[in-house]
Amino acid sequence: MEKINWFPGHMKKALSMMADEVKKTDVLIYVLDGRAPLACLNPEFLNIINNKPVLFIINKLDLSDEKKLLEIKKVLKTDNNDVVLLNSTASGSSKIVIDKLQNLCRITIEKYIKKGIKPIVRAMVVGVPNCGKSTFINNLIGKYKAVTGNKPGVTKNKQWIKVSENMEILDTPGTLWPNISDQTAGKKLAFIGSIKDEIVSSDELALMLIDELKVSYEKYLDERFSVLSRNKNALEILEEISVKRGYLLKRGEPDYIRTGKAIIDDFRKGKIGRITL
Ligand code: GDP
Repeated sequence: MEKINWFPGHMKKALSMMADEVKKTDVLIYVLDGRAPLACLNPEFLNIINNKPVLFIINKLDLSDEKKLLEIKKVLKTDNNDVVLLNSTASGSSKIVIDKLQNLCRITIEKYIKKGIKPIVRAMVVGVPNCGKSTFINNLIGKYKAVTGNKPGVTKNKQWIKVSENMEILDTPGTLWPNISDQTAGKKLAFIGSIKDEIVSSDELALMLIDELKVSYEKYLDERFSVLSRNKNALEILEEISVKRGYLLKRGEPDYIRTGKAIIDDFRKGKIGRITL
């Protein structure tokens, strides 16, 4: 695969807006996609976070391997940071988030109270495209509906939103970083739909996904696609799936593109199983 370099101008602008807004922020809500949470850690955010407390939301729990997420949770949790595993599409998951945010900001809240000011906690929500920020925010604020969509870069406008009497949040556009040089992260971001599908062809992406799945989730792969993948390489497996599904071109050759799309789609919808890469 060619090196993934996907960093459009609007993402650069978004990062500088975020660096600016962080000054008004007490805590960051950092949404990660549970299917590849470590790949969602954006090195550009290090400067933006600027030593503020962080609440990591490991999202899409319903699609992810919970056992692996609990290990990752241990790594991310520090004195200044907390972690919640969440399915943002389920209702009623926001109470724990508000409690944790207030706990992370307790010193700031106490300071406000001492000064006789009504404490308002301000949280900025950050994350790569498609990690579920909008869905998470919709869930958190209940009635209010932000625009969501299964495509990178839908969230655009800068808006502080009231979550409760004493909490406001700011949604930010999904951002990546220039020269995703660690290609391990690059391909995982492509699997989860954070990098536009036009950047990598679906057959190539599916071959990389099959290789990844063979390492820890071979059983799921075999079950979903009725293949026996042991001792076969990714191309042989892709070919077998094409034939099994009848995804063939006019002259009977495997339609790798269509098969690749189907595999990626199944992965994204959680049909292969609950997976964390
Ligand atoms: P954003 O680009 O980060 O704002 O992501 P969106 O909120 O638009 O979500 C991207 C896709 O992921 C949408 O299809 C959502 O329905 C889906 N999604 C978001 N959170 C979850 C979750 O916790 N579980 C599942 N299964 N899907 C989710």
